[in-house]
Amino acid sequence: MQFEQILRDFHIHFSSVGPKCRQGWINLRCPQCHKDPYLGYNLAKRYTHCWNCGSIPLWTVLRDLTQLRPQQIFDLIGELPRDEIVSISHTGKLELPYGVEELGRDHQEYIRDRRLSPLEISRTWKVKGIGQHGSHRWRLFIPVEQRGEVVSWTTRSIISGKEPRYLSARPDQSKVPIENCLYGVSRTHHSVCVVEGPIDTWTIGPGAVAILGLRTSPSQLEQLSRFPVRYICFDREEEAQRRARKLRDDLSVFPGKTANILLEAKDPGSASREEINHIRGLLRK
Ligand SMILES: [Zn+2]
Repeated sequence: MQFEQILRDFHIHFSSVGPKCRQGWINLRCPQCHKDPYLGYNLAKRYTHCWNCGSIPLWTVLRDLTQLRPQQIFDLIGELPRDEIVSISHTGKLELPYGVEELGRDHQEYIRDRRLSPLEISRTWKVKGIGQHGSHRWRLFIPVEQRGEVVSWTTRSIISGKEPRYLSARPDQSKVPIENCLYGVSRTHHSVCVVEGPIDTWTIGPGAVAILGLRTSPSQLEQLSRFPVRYICFDREEEAQRRARKLRDDLSVFPGKTANILLEAKDPGSASREEINHIRGLLRK
């Protein structure tokens, strides 16, 4: 089934020609901000975008437009050609930043300050260090794997207050663009706990996957939707919790269970052993 057909079936007004329309897009009233015709559906690349709200996942749009129950929306999405939901673009060849070597003393100290073991982090997550040279100096080198293969990377500054904290591979330096990757996905089983950054993943351990940024890409959402049990554990502050609730809503249209975990601590990195063990327990179930 095509997107236009869904709109027709639900008697939703749309246009693809006219003064307010861009060529190659289907235009309609945005179900989130109600501006008309601000929402566009890109015919070639098959994604939805609002001039006002920005990128909105296709399933969120369908949920808001059709008011169907989650299972019915899931069926509707299932009928769409697969690349209509997500497109993973394979880009360049993997290119590492200059100066990647074993963890130095300062890198190890940074990891220890986060109550983690440098040996464990380098063994399990293959984290390395970048020393005093190059544009990525004094950073942790964090490889991003998909199906056991390194496809991209990010780096974390070990100098406190240094911005940007994370400096990641560009698409042309990655086999898979980093925004399409879930950090830690190679070490998951039945359940996942979605976190914000790699350090949260290390703290919780296998089963925790990081979205590596502020927003969840359609490709990441699609990968998360395949897990039958999904927990979300973002930082405690309001803005992060707003994003956590949005992600929970986006995932709730898929079969399975989605739950938001609100920590007592400000983030997983500063959570008590007890809280972390509780999450680990949930992931083992
Ligand atoms: Zn909008």
